Amino acid sequence: MYEFLHKEDAEVYAAVAGEEKRQAEGLELIPSENYVSRAVKEAMASSLTNKYSEGYPGKRYYGGQEFTDQVETLAIERAKKLFNAAFANVQPLGGANANMAMYFALLEPGDTVLGMDLSHGGHLTHGHPVTYLTKIFNFVRYKMKNVETGEIDYDEMLEVAKREKPKIILAGFSAYPRELDYAKFVSIAREVGAISVMDIAHIAGLIAGGAAKNPFDAGFDLMTTTTHKTLRGPRGGMILTRESEELAKKIDKSVFPGLQGGPHMHQIAAKAVAFGEALRPSFQTYAKQIIANAKAMADVFASHNVRMITGGTDNHLILADVFGSLGISGKEAEKLLDEAGITLNKNVIADDPRKPLDPSGIRFGTPAMTTRGFKEAESKRVAEIMVDVLKKSIDVSVAKDEIKKLALAHPISESFA
Ligand SMILES: *Cc1c(COP(=O)(O)O)cnc(C)c1O
Repeated sequence: MYEFLHKEDAEVYAAVAGEEKRQAEGLELIPSENYVSRAVKEAMASSLTNKYSEGYPGKRYYGGQEFTDQVETLAIERAKKLFNAAFANVQPLGGANANMAMYFALLEPGDTVLGMDLSHGGHLTHGHPVTYLTKIFNFVRYKMKNVETGEIDYDEMLEVAKREKPKIILAGFSAYPRELDYAKFVSIAREVGAISVMDIAHIAGLIAGGAAKNPFDAGFDLMTTTTHKTLRGPRGGMILTRESEELAKKIDKSVFPGLQGGPHMHQIAAKAVAFGEALRPSFQTYAKQIIANAKAMADVFASHNVRMITGGTDNHLILADVFGSLGISGKEAEKLLDEAGITLNKNVIADDPRKPLDPSGIRFGTPAMTTRGFKEAESKRVAEIMVDVLKKSIDVSVAKDEIKKLALAHPISESFA
């Protein structure tokens, strides 16, 4: 691999090779990351990157679209099958782009969106004040009623919805370890005449693999997602429509020409490959194992009395209050674990008493290590090492050696055939 890069650009090659080594030897616990197959990488590196294909299959602005149409149609059809959707737009360049296209498709400036409070697990693109979205649209919030169980305050949600009259009720999260009550969201949305949207960016792979509920089964109108998190595809986004052709048409117009230019057809080819992989029975085994591994890690943290937001996990991620439980800040925990070869991120916890740049929590998850073939036993061992490092009861260099051994014993999978 990288034969030409090696020969023709030593500087970029060195950075790429360094990253490959880092990924091989360390343990990736950032819950939004994963390892794609060689087939996905080959599609990404293909000559489809050379082609301009503004428009949609059969309706392009340029000629020469025989094969781009084939590849985009494959991606669309596979996405529809995976998520039981009537329509799919596979052109968004990422999850943020998918959400922007969704907002602009459904809202006029000044319209209101009801979304998850950001410190309770919502994403930046759900209306964080640092995003430009908040200059255009009005975001209002719902929260957890009980941080120890994760129960959402659906009564408050209904009350806010009746008062604020949102056009969109947005479910979904980046840091919430439980399953939402989808039927409640849909019924509140219908009661106030809002469109219901679930941002499945983090859990798309769990849904595709049948290990988590599909929000469409409860009647959600739309889903936005990334394709590179649990879904294990290339970096990218997607918007799915359950049944309304009218909504799907608005989405298509909003993605192009509303917001984007030419689609990244090499990425779309790679999405098609990843969706094909996710349609195989082995992906269902993978999705279940992600959750089993996360639960195994949560058991270890619980046995050491480390407080977890919502008390544990039902999905792929855990949010631990390391400051409250072990007296170590999220920032310091992130740094110590990084020295031990474990990559994860500091994270605000609900009603965090500390500042966002040095919060109380760490967030971690199991999608990438599960792709490496880790099962419950290895997951528990990793969690034990983490707790030991955070309690400073073992030397970081000793932890690092064991993590490296565990990682090298489970090479990153290159094929899911
Ligand atoms: C990751 C994420 C996004 C953004 O995806 P990008 O590809 O980074 O733009 C949007 N929404 C949620 C819930 C996410 O977790």
